[in-house]
Amino acid sequence: MEQENDKQKHKKRGVAILGSTGSIGTQALEVIESYPELFDLQVITAGNNADLLIEQALKFNPNMVVIGDETQYNKVKEALWNEDIHVYCGADALCQVVQSTDVDVVLTALVGYAGLKPTIAAIEAKKDIALANKETLVVAGQLITAMAKSYGVNIYPVDSEHSAIFQCLPGEFMNPIEKIYLTASGGPFRGYSTEQLAQVTKAQALKHPNWSMGAKITIDSATMMNKGLEVIEAKWLFNLTAEQIDVVVHPQSIVHSLVQFEDGSMKAQMGLPDMKLPIQYALTFPYRLKTNYPRFNFMDYPNLTFETPDRITFKNLDLAYQAMDRDGTVPCALNAANEIAVQAFLDERIAFLDIARINEHVMNTVTHVSKPSLEDYIAIDLEARRMASLLVGK
Ligand code: NAD
Ligand code: MG
Repeated sequence: MEQENDKQKHKKRGVAILGSTGSIGTQALEVIESYPELFDLQVITAGNNADLLIEQALKFNPNMVVIGDETQYNKVKEALWNEDIHVYCGADALCQVVQSTDVDVVLTALVGYAGLKPTIAAIEAKKDIALANKETLVVAGQLITAMAKSYGVNIYPVDSEHSAIFQCLPGEFMNPIEKIYLTASGGPFRGYSTEQLAQVTKAQALKHPNWSMGAKITIDSATMMNKGLEVIEAKWLFNLTAEQIDVVVHPQSIVHSLVQFEDGSMKAQMGLPDMKLPIQYALTFPYRLKTNYPRFNFMDYPNLTFETPDRITFKNLDLAYQAMDRDGTVPCALNAANEIAVQAFLDERIAFLDIARINEHVMNTVTHVSKPSLEDYIAIDLEARRMASLLVGK
């Protein structure tokens, strides 16, 4: 048995990384580079960063690459013409490459709604999912989890909070979760009043105190939408009700989240904030890899503190709870509105507080489908995007 386990542990896993040029994607490549005996990188993809994709392809020699932006196809193709690497472009190609027989696990590290269809394609091909792209579960959690169940596919969380919960669960199969606490750093504007938030700039919002991440999730962290999306993500990953999911602000980002069981006992997962850890755990579960990452020192953090989130000033967290409560396509509409509003804020076309305003209006105004099919999600996403685009003046 032990020998069998050892073999399992050392069999190379074929990995596809969707969004390899992003924050999660580049950290995933660092993990893969550190353990060449464990991973066989099959697929890398980028939205439009052709230069980095080419550099990564030349370094890692994957079987396939996809550039989302079709206008850059020739550039990538020409740069890799002498290599034994298949080059594809466009959104549909993402759905095809994940289904390759040599892929065992798909790390969804692309940002936003764009992750939905490739995740569905991967599940249909019975590939395990290492899920960073939380928006997919926010948009269509019911559909995705039902599909994963029927195809026998595991979804391993990469998001640090959900990885923390997941790491608290082995050995607790017989013990129902009473409640979980997702920790939130509070972002750069923790403690700000509405008047102060009205003045904040894009540059300030992009400065996260503890994590270095892509632009969209960094703005989501500043508005607390990220925690809202994570609440919905947790509902689907761990099959919980809204009442079982609480958020606690923990500015040091050391306790990554907690589970409370029915006897009142709580388990937490802790460590210095480093996304490489949840990334590799999602790729190697149930094994932990030996690392030389810096270790936590209690004396560097004599005070770990906890606060109640301000759900009135940071309205997005409340909107997410409302969307989860109303279910159906409401979370999908909220996500679509938020993607448009965040981009408009990054383009400096709207103010910080407009993001939650637009989210609320769109979520409460677009068509609601209570038992949605995939087509309904696609239609509502589009409708919500159109409405949000009108509101941002596009
Ligand atoms: P990022 O912006 O740094 O990277 C996104 C990647 O996806 C890039 O490779 C980009 O080229 C690609 N991409 C973007 N839009 C695309 C599209 N329409 N089609 C195809 N490819 C596209 O983002 P990130 O910070 O790495 O976040 C990725 C996902 O992981 C998000 O869903 C985010 O919420 C989640 N996440 C990130 C972190 C983090 O620390 N960065 C932590 C937890 C969860
Ligand atoms: Mg997170």
